[in-house]
Amino acid sequence: MSNILEVNGLTTQFETKNGPLTVVDDVHFSLKKGEVLGIVGESGCGKSVTSLSILQLLDKHGKVSSGEVLYKNTNLVSKTEKEMRKIRGKEISMIFQDPMTSLNPVLTIGTQIGEVIEKHEKIKGTQVKQKVVELLNLVGIPRANEIFHEYPHRLSGGMKQRVMIAMAIACKPTMLIADEPTTALDVTIQAQILDLLRSLKEDLEMSILLITHDLGVVAEMCDRVVVMYAGQVVETTDTRTLLRNPRHPYTVGLIQSTP
Ligand code: ADP
Ligand code: MG
Repeated sequence: MSNILEVNGLTTQFETKNGPLTVVDDVHFSLKKGEVLGIVGESGCGKSVTSLSILQLLDKHGKVSSGEVLYKNTNLVSKTEKEMRKIRGKEISMIFQDPMTSLNPVLTIGTQIGEVIEKHEKIKGTQVKQKVVELLNLVGIPRANEIFHEYPHRLSGGMKQRVMIAMAIACKPTMLIADEPTTALDVTIQAQILDLLRSLKEDLEMSILLITHDLGVVAEMCDRVVVMYAGQVVETTDTRTLLRNPRHPYTVGLIQSTP
C-alpha cells in the first residue's frame, strides 16, 4: 500500500515566557491509503498539536520548527496559508472532540455545511441545498429538510457530531483527521459515531488518522497504532500486536489500566 501521509521528524514548539517549549518532538509515522491509523497517548502528550501541525493550524505562538509533513509527496510545512486553504476540507478534513467549538452558533446547519461546499465547488443555490440534504441523510440525521434550517443549539451532542462529520466529508476528502471524535459523547452514541465513521471510510475510500486516548476505540477501529508519550512516538505497531504484546512501559501500563 502507498502512503498518503508521511510525517518525518516533526518537531513543534510554542513560544512561552520561559523560551521555546517543544511539545512534539521528532515524530515519525506514515498513513497508508485506506488505513485507519490510531494515535494514542495520555492527555497533554501532543496528539492534538501533531494534528494541528499537519494542517498548519497552530496559533501564532506555535510553529513547526523542523521536520516535514508529506501529503501525496508534497511537503505541507512549506505551503502558504492560501495553498493550505485549498487543501483543508478538500484534501484533508478534520473533526474535533467538541462540536460546539467548531459549529457557528449563529448560522443554521444548512448554511454552515453549504459554505464548505461553496468554498471548494462551483455550485450555488438549490444545488447546494440538495447536496447538504443528501449529506445530512448520509450521516444519519433524521428529518434532514427541517434540520437544514435549525441552529446548532437545537441538536443533541451526537447529532452535532454528525453535522461536523457531514461538514468534514462534504467535499469527499482523501484523508480525515478525527481528534477524539467520540470523547464528549455518551457511550451508546460513541458506538454509533464510530460505526458511521467506519462505513463512511469504506464508502468514500478515506484514509483516517484517529486520535484517541481510548484503547477500546483503537481495538475496534484501527489497523495500526502510534503511541505517543511526552511529545514523542514510543511505539508504532499493528493493533493486535499492541494489545497482545506491548513493548513500551507506558503502553503496558495503558493496557493494564484499561478494563
Ligand atoms: P493532547 O491532545 O495529547 O491531549 P495537546 O497536543 O493538546 O495534547 O498538548 C500538548 C502540549 O502542548 C500540552 O502540554 C499543552 O499544554 C501544550 N500546548 C497545546 N497548545 C498550546 C498552545 N496553544 N500554547 C502553548 N502550549 C500549548
Ligand atoms: Mg487533544
